Amino acid sequence: MSETPLGAHIKALIRQEGPISLSRYMGLALGHPKYGYYMTRDPLGARGDFTTAPEISQMFGELIGLWAAHAWSTLGGPENVALVELGPGRGTLMADALRAIAKAAPAFRAALTVHLVETSPVLREKQAVTLASQAVEWHERIETLPEAPLIVIANEFFDALPIDQMVHRHGAWRERQVGLEDEHLVFGLSPVVSATENRPIGDGVVLEVASAGLAVLKGLALRLAANGGAALIIDYGPERLALGDTLQAIENHAFVDPLARPGEADITAHVAFEALADAAAKDGLSVDFLASQADFLENLGIKVLAETLRRNATPLQAEAIDGALARLTDRSQRGMGSLFKVLALSFRLNQ
Ligand code: SAH
Repeated sequence: MSETPLGAHIKALIRQEGPISLSRYMGLALGHPKYGYYMTRDPLGARGDFTTAPEISQMFGELIGLWAAHAWSTLGGPENVALVELGPGRGTLMADALRAIAKAAPAFRAALTVHLVETSPVLREKQAVTLASQAVEWHERIETLPEAPLIVIANEFFDALPIDQMVHRHGAWRERQVGLEDEHLVFGLSPVVSATENRPIGDGVVLEVASAGLAVLKGLALRLAANGGAALIIDYGPERLALGDTLQAIENHAFVDPLARPGEADITAHVAFEALADAAAKDGLSVDFLASQADFLENLGIKVLAETLRRNATPLQAEAIDGALARLTDRSQRGMGSLFKVLALSFRLNQ
């Protein structure tokens, strides 16, 4: 396979500085300002590399809008509130959520301003088109969000944030690194990071650390604790802490080697929900629930919503609604309904 421009850039970097951490590699592959995967394309949809829940059905964003309205009233219905989405993709979820909010909770709609945290210029353009009728503000990072109560939504955002992997080899933890061998990018291990262990750990065991995800969560926690607010994190990953290598790369809906074509393949890892929830709790946030996507959507009434939509639908549309409902709530082993989890966090002032 041909080398990508980013591959050449990363090799030059390694020649100069030596092997780099996995999180640095992932950060460059996805976010390099010129060649990063997200910087140069819209990866979503049938002709892209993957499809997300809001692109499957309007029901997804509408129900999240209802969750946001509920979160707002739980916060006491503050008058100036920022509705924030991290990594909004094509802007579909936000458009669907705002439509549902305007209908079901006009007072919330009147109180909110819309803020999108997005680094990709290509996707910002798409979001501007999808949300053309709305007043929207973009941010590079969460630090510039307004000093106000925040209601934050992140769907398939945390899986795109760089991770590190600790690998247990010969009785000690080492860090997985990306280096060079015969002019090819290869995985290797750092010198020993920590050698002391209380209990035996198998050779080759991998422990993933959500390096960037935990940093984002920290920033959010500070904001929520200062002004109040709530956050909903939806992504794939196990509910409980799990060991193992979940790094994966996808190009054209197929798995590829994560080192083969940096900048051209999407690289993700499972989201460590337990670690995120623990960190949030330590920062003083309340962990309201951690549920499967199927349970979350069913509790919000996705079946009733599907029924309502079906009533005004052509037979072909009704079939599509049924298909989307089945896909979003599929509880089989690799189905979205069980693979995806929903973590709800909040901080209420004066309580
Ligand atoms: N939430 C959307 C898109 C998911 S893809 C959906 O469900 O369809 C991941 C999104 O996160 C993209 O919009 C991507 O550009 C954005 N993104 C990735 N890394 C980011 C970062 N570090 N900061 C801000 N946005 C980022």
